[in-house]
Amino acid sequence: MRGTIFVVSGPSGAGKTSILKEVLRKIPNLEFSISYTTRPKRPGEKHGEDYFFVTEEEFKDLINADEFLEWAEVHGYLYGTSKAFITEKLERGINLILDIDVQGALAVMKRMPEVATIFISPPSFEELKKRLISRGTESERDLKRRLKDARWEFSHIIDFQYLIVNRSVKESVRQLEAVIIAEQLKIDRIKDHMGMEEILRGV
Ligand code: 5GP
Repeated sequence: MRGTIFVVSGPSGAGKTSILKEVLRKIPNLEFSISYTTRPKRPGEKHGEDYFFVTEEEFKDLINADEFLEWAEVHGYLYGTSKAFITEKLERGINLILDIDVQGALAVMKRMPEVATIFISPPSFEELKKRLISRGTESERDLKRRLKDARWEFSHIIDFQYLIVNRSVKESVRQLEAVIIAEQLKIDRIKDHMGMEEILRGV
Protein backbone atom coordinates (compact mmCIF):
# COMPACT_ATOMS: atom_id res chain seq x y z
CA MET A 1 0.00 0.00 0.00
CA ARG A 2 1.28 3.49 -0.86
CA GLY A 3 2.57 5.46 2.13
CA THR A 4 0.74 8.39 3.66
CA ILE A 5 2.14 11.89 4.08
CA PHE A 6 1.71 13.68 7.41
CA VAL A 7 2.40 17.38 7.05
CA VAL A 8 3.36 18.91 10.39
CA SER A 9 3.67 22.68 10.68
CA GLY A 10 3.88 25.23 13.40
CA PRO A 11 6.03 28.12 14.53
CA SER A 12 9.66 27.53 15.21
CA GLY A 13 9.98 27.06 18.98
CA ALA A 14 6.62 25.29 19.36
CA GLY A 15 8.49 22.11 20.26
CA LYS A 16 7.91 20.33 16.95
CA THR A 17 11.37 18.75 16.73
CA SER A 18 11.23 17.04 20.15
CA ILE A 19 7.72 15.73 19.48
CA LEU A 20 8.62 14.45 16.02
CA LYS A 21 11.82 12.72 17.19
CA GLU A 22 9.87 10.76 19.81
CA VAL A 23 6.99 9.86 17.47
CA LEU A 24 9.43 8.71 14.77
CA ARG A 25 11.14 6.49 17.34
CA LYS A 26 7.86 4.97 18.48
CA ILE A 27 5.87 4.38 15.29
CA PRO A 28 7.12 1.72 12.87
CA ASN A 29 7.18 2.34 9.13
CA LEU A 30 7.23 6.11 9.63
CA GLU A 31 10.15 8.22 8.42
CA PHE A 32 11.19 11.86 8.36
CA SER A 33 11.27 13.64 5.01
CA ILE A 34 14.72 15.19 4.82
CA SER A 35 14.49 18.64 3.24
CA TYR A 36 17.08 20.72 1.46
CA THR A 37 18.06 24.00 3.07
CA THR A 38 20.48 26.90 2.66
CA ARG A 39 20.39 27.58 6.43
CA PRO A 40 23.73 27.11 8.19
CA LYS A 41 24.09 23.88 10.13
CA ARG A 42 23.40 24.13 13.88
CA PRO A 43 25.73 22.35 16.29
CA GLY A 44 24.88 18.66 16.39
CA GLU A 45 23.01 18.64 13.07
CA LYS A 46 24.07 16.17 10.39
CA HIS A 47 23.97 16.47 6.59
CA GLY A 48 21.58 13.84 5.21
CA GLU A 49 19.94 13.31 8.59
CA ASP A 50 18.45 16.63 9.68
CA TYR A 51 18.68 18.32 6.29
CA PHE A 52 20.63 18.24 3.07
CA PHE A 53 22.61 21.43 3.59
CA VAL A 54 23.32 23.15 0.27
CA THR A 55 24.49 26.52 -1.02
CA GLU A 56 22.06 29.03 -2.46
CA GLU A 57 23.43 28.27 -5.92
CA GLU A 58 22.87 24.53 -5.51
CA PHE A 59 19.35 25.19 -4.22
CA LYS A 60 18.54 27.37 -7.24
CA ASP A 61 19.78 24.64 -9.58
CA LEU A 62 17.39 22.22 -7.87
CA ILE A 63 14.50 24.68 -8.37
CA ASN A 64 15.36 25.03 -12.06
CA ALA A 65 15.53 21.26 -12.44
CA ASP A 66 11.99 21.05 -10.95
CA GLU A 67 13.24 18.83 -8.13
CA PHE A 68 10.96 20.24 -5.43
CA LEU A 69 7.40 19.31 -4.51
CA GLU A 70 7.39 22.67 -2.75
CA TRP A 71 9.95 25.16 -1.60
CA ALA A 72 9.79 28.39 0.37
CA GLU A 73 11.87 31.12 1.90
CA VAL A 74 11.53 30.72 5.66
CA HIS A 75 13.08 33.17 8.13
CA GLY A 76 15.47 34.33 5.41
CA TYR A 77 16.70 30.94 4.19
CA LEU A 78 15.48 28.57 1.47
CA TYR A 79 13.90 25.22 2.34
CA GLY A 80 12.49 22.59 -0.03
CA THR A 81 10.93 19.12 -0.13
CA SER A 82 12.48 16.79 -2.68
CA LYS A 83 10.02 15.11 -5.05
CA ALA A 84 12.39 12.20 -5.67
CA PHE A 85 12.91 11.58 -1.95
CA ILE A 86 9.24 11.40 -1.07
CA THR A 87 8.15 9.48 -4.20
CA GLU A 88 10.68 6.74 -3.55
CA LYS A 89 9.54 6.36 0.10
CA LEU A 90 5.80 6.47 -0.65
CA GLU A 91 6.13 3.88 -3.41
CA ARG A 92 7.83 1.55 -0.94
CA GLY A 93 4.83 1.95 1.38
CA ILE A 94 6.69 4.09 3.90
CA ASN A 95 4.72 6.79 5.70
CA LEU A 96 6.39 10.18 5.87
CA ILE A 97 6.41 13.16 8.17
CA LEU A 98 7.00 16.47 6.41
CA ASP A 99 8.09 19.10 8.94
CA ILE A 100 7.54 22.16 6.76
CA ASP A 101 6.41 25.74 7.26
CA VAL A 102 2.86 26.94 6.65
CA GLN A 103 3.61 28.27 3.12
CA GLY A 104 4.95 24.83 2.21
CA ALA A 105 2.05 23.06 3.89
CA LEU A 106 -0.49 25.11 1.92
CA ALA A 107 1.34 24.32 -1.33
CA VAL A 108 1.39 20.57 -0.56
CA MET A 109 -2.33 20.58 0.38
CA LYS A 110 -3.10 22.05 -3.05
CA ARG A 111 -1.00 19.54 -4.99
CA MET A 112 -1.80 16.50 -2.84
CA PRO A 113 -5.19 16.98 -1.14
CA GLU A 114 -4.99 13.47 0.37
CA VAL A 115 -2.26 14.42 2.87
CA ALA A 116 -3.01 14.57 6.60
CA THR A 117 -2.22 17.97 8.10
CA ILE A 118 -1.35 18.80 11.70
CA PHE A 119 -0.53 22.18 13.25
CA ILE A 120 1.57 22.16 16.41
CA SER A 121 1.19 25.31 18.45
CA PRO A 122 2.84 26.56 21.62
CA PRO A 123 0.39 27.31 24.48
CA SER A 124 0.79 31.06 23.91
CA PHE A 125 2.80 33.64 22.02
CA GLU A 126 4.64 34.59 25.24
CA GLU A 127 5.61 30.96 25.81
CA LEU A 128 6.93 30.77 22.24
CA LYS A 129 9.13 33.81 22.83
CA LYS A 130 10.45 32.31 26.07
CA ARG A 131 11.25 28.98 24.38
CA LEU A 132 13.03 30.60 21.46
CA ILE A 133 15.15 32.76 23.78
CA SER A 134 16.08 29.85 26.05
CA ARG A 135 16.96 27.65 23.05
CA GLY A 136 19.60 30.24 22.19
CA THR A 137 20.25 28.92 18.68
CA GLU A 138 19.18 32.11 16.86
CA SER A 139 20.81 35.50 16.52
CA GLU A 140 18.83 38.55 17.71
CA ARG A 141 17.88 39.28 14.08
CA ASP A 142 16.72 35.70 13.41
CA LEU A 143 14.75 35.63 16.66
CA LYS A 144 12.78 38.77 15.74
CA ARG A 145 12.08 37.38 12.31
CA ARG A 146 10.89 34.01 13.66
CA LEU A 147 8.45 35.75 16.05
CA LYS A 148 7.06 37.92 13.27
CA ASP A 149 6.65 34.87 11.01
CA ALA A 150 4.92 32.99 13.86
CA ARG A 151 2.08 35.55 13.92
CA TRP A 152 1.40 34.90 10.24
CA GLU A 153 1.60 31.12 10.78
CA PHE A 154 -0.97 31.28 13.63
CA SER A 155 -3.41 32.98 11.26
CA HIS A 156 -3.44 29.81 9.13
CA ILE A 157 -4.32 27.26 11.84
CA ILE A 158 -7.80 27.03 10.32
CA ASP A 159 -6.37 25.53 7.11
CA PHE A 160 -5.15 22.41 8.97
CA GLN A 161 -7.10 19.28 9.92
CA TYR A 162 -5.66 18.75 13.42
CA LEU A 163 -4.35 21.07 16.14
CA ILE A 164 -1.98 19.97 18.89
CA VAL A 165 -1.27 22.56 21.58
CA ASN A 166 2.08 21.58 23.01
CA ARG A 167 1.77 22.00 26.79
CA SER A 168 3.78 18.87 27.54
CA VAL A 169 5.91 16.92 25.07
CA LYS A 170 4.67 13.61 26.48
CA GLU A 171 1.01 14.49 25.92
CA SER A 172 1.68 15.98 22.47
CA VAL A 173 3.52 12.81 21.43
CA ARG A 174 0.49 10.77 22.52
CA GLN A 175 -1.83 13.03 20.53
CA LEU A 176 0.27 12.94 17.38
CA GLU A 177 0.55 9.16 17.62
CA ALA A 178 -3.25 8.96 17.90
CA VAL A 179 -3.68 11.11 14.78
CA ILE A 180 -1.22 9.01 12.78
CA ILE A 181 -2.80 5.73 13.82
CA ALA A 182 -6.36 6.98 13.14
CA GLU A 183 -5.40 8.37 9.72
CA GLN A 184 -4.01 5.00 8.68
CA LEU A 185 -7.32 3.32 9.51
CA LYS A 186 -9.38 5.60 7.25
CA ILE A 187 -11.38 3.58 4.74
CA ASP A 188 -10.45 6.08 2.04
CA ARG A 189 -6.76 5.26 2.52
CA ILE A 190 -7.12 1.48 2.58
CA LYS A 191 -9.95 0.83 0.14
CA ASP A 192 -7.67 0.07 -2.79
CA HIS A 193 -5.68 -2.39 -0.73
CA MET A 194 -5.79 -6.02 -1.92
CA GLY A 195 -8.55 -7.95 -0.22
CA MET A 196 -10.37 -4.86 1.01
CA GLU A 197 -12.60 -4.63 -2.04
CA GLU A 198 -14.56 -7.76 -1.04
CA ILE A 199 -14.93 -6.63 2.55
CA LEU A 200 -16.22 -3.23 1.48
CA ARG A 201 -18.75 -4.85 -0.89
CA GLY A 202 -19.97 -6.89 2.08
CA VAL A 203 -18.85 -10.22 0.64
P1 5GP B 1 14.62 25.26 11.18
O1 5GP B 1 15.54 26.24 10.54
O2 5GP B 1 14.24 25.70 12.59
O3 5GP B 1 15.11 23.83 11.10
O4 5GP B 1 13.28 25.29 10.34
C1 5GP B 1 12.64 26.50 10.10
C2 5GP B 1 11.30 26.27 9.47
O5 5GP B 1 11.48 25.74 8.17
C3 5GP B 1 10.43 25.27 10.23
O6 5GP B 1 9.14 25.84 10.37
C4 5GP B 1 10.39 24.08 9.33
O7 5GP B 1 9.15 23.41 9.45
C5 5GP B 1 10.53 24.72 7.97
N1 5GP B 1 11.00 23.78 6.94
C6 5GP B 1 11.89 22.78 7.06
N2 5GP B 1 12.02 22.11 5.91
C7 5GP B 1 11.17 22.69 5.03
C8 5GP B 1 10.81 22.44 3.66
O8 5GP B 1 11.30 21.54 3.00
N3 5GP B 1 9.90 23.27 3.10
C9 5GP B 1 9.31 24.29 3.79
N4 5GP B 1 8.40 25.03 3.17
N5 5GP B 1 9.60 24.55 5.07
C10 5GP B 1 10.52 23.76 5.69
